[in-house]
Amino acid sequence: MRILVSGAGTAGLSAGIDLARAGHEVEIVERTNRLRANGSPIDVRGEAIETARGMGILDAVRAHRITMTEQTKFVDRSGAAVAPLVLQEINETPDDIELPREDLMAILRQTLPEQVELRFEERVVTLVDDGDRVAVTFASGREAAYDLVVGADGAHSAVRRLVFGEEKEFTEHLGVYVAIGDVPGQTAPGTARVTEILNLPGRFAGVARYRDKALGIFEFRSEPIDYDHHDLGAQKRILAEAFAGIEDWKVPELVKTVLADPNLYFDVLAQIIMPAWHKGRVVLIGDAAHCATPMAGRGVSLALLGAWTLTEELDRHGDDLESAFAAYEQRHRPHAAAAQEFARGGADLMVPATWEAIEARNTRLRAAQPL
Ligand SMILES: Cc1cc2nc3c(=O)[nH]c(=O)nc-3n(C[C@H](O)[C@H](O)[C@H](O)COP(=O)(O)OP(=O)(O)OC[C@H]3O[C@@H](n4cnc5c(N)ncnc54)[C@H](O)[C@@H]3O)c2cc1C
Repeated sequence: MRILVSGAGTAGLSAGIDLARAGHEVEIVERTNRLRANGSPIDVRGEAIETARGMGILDAVRAHRITMTEQTKFVDRSGAAVAPLVLQEINETPDDIELPREDLMAILRQTLPEQVELRFEERVVTLVDDGDRVAVTFASGREAAYDLVVGADGAHSAVRRLVFGEEKEFTEHLGVYVAIGDVPGQTAPGTARVTEILNLPGRFAGVARYRDKALGIFEFRSEPIDYDHHDLGAQKRILAEAFAGIEDWKVPELVKTVLADPNLYFDVLAQIIMPAWHKGRVVLIGDAAHCATPMAGRGVSLALLGAWTLTEELDRHGDDLESAFAAYEQRHRPHAAAAQEFARGGADLMVPATWEAIEARNTRLRAAQPL
């Protein structure tokens, strides 16, 4: 089949690898001008480890392993450690490989078969599925027809909007926003792998360190904010406002440095919950279908697994797309649902809403594991 994949994140690149190897002709379009490889380290875990083995990337994934979360601690307003982050609270499975997001993206990019066409600064504008083919027009003005279109364009998927409906119909807001950016001045010797987090009511400001890198990470509770998801200026304004007037610990310095990062990652923590992930010749994978939010620690694993399951079912069902998609959904839904369920408690653990809740969380963590 001639297949278009919209989005070159972990889901889109995985689909490119798996579908091309299964003998399909694959084209990937990515709206930005590069692979978006920034963000904090991510996890390959559970069934996704076997998927990574099947994709032939498990050795590379293991070779890039880091163990950042083992040295994560909550600090008070002066920077003194007050509680450890107990691993069992965020890892529901012990079989977890944590690695820098940029390393996984590079591994996927290197594994992508040469014949897969990867077009940057390109995106779908219209999709017309006539039952036999999907006619697509792109932002560049190009037109092409495909047997199948895979929406792998993330939580704010354009394919989902064009084919299934507006984002708000499928969105469950967790009440938290997240921002991540480089803070190069924070890589002091001796703290090489230590991650520190300060909580204030409804606020999280942290420095995550791994290898020679330091990331500033911010989370804050908020009602839904209306802004253009692609507007970096708007994202920076929202972040600056959320932490304005906070003078504790390193917060002013961290905010200032992160705001200077041209690759700042900012998003709402909102889950995508859909009654169906396919319609006609169009199917969704990854965050586009079932974003669980970074609170799940499962986004990448679900992306690898979903692309793999979809490819297997297309193989098994030949031309019968409806059966292939239905089987993909039936196998993959329990994984997505479990991840979404797990993530729902994340805000109370990482961004408690009140001083009392922060203290209660810290007391519980200290009891589970001494500092
Ligand atoms: C920059 C960035 C940083 C992240 N950081 C973290 C993190 O720190 N922790 C965490 O748990 N998760 C993070 N995530 C989310 C995590 O990567 C995903 O949950 C997981 O990898 C599933 O990926 P996905 O490919 O479905 O979606 P995404 O990773 O969101 O990838 C979607 C891709 O599609 C592209 N795209 C969007 N719209 C269009 C369009 N209209 N046409 C073509 N392409 C489009 C995007 O630019 C992106 O490259 C981050 C995502 C991004 C994009």
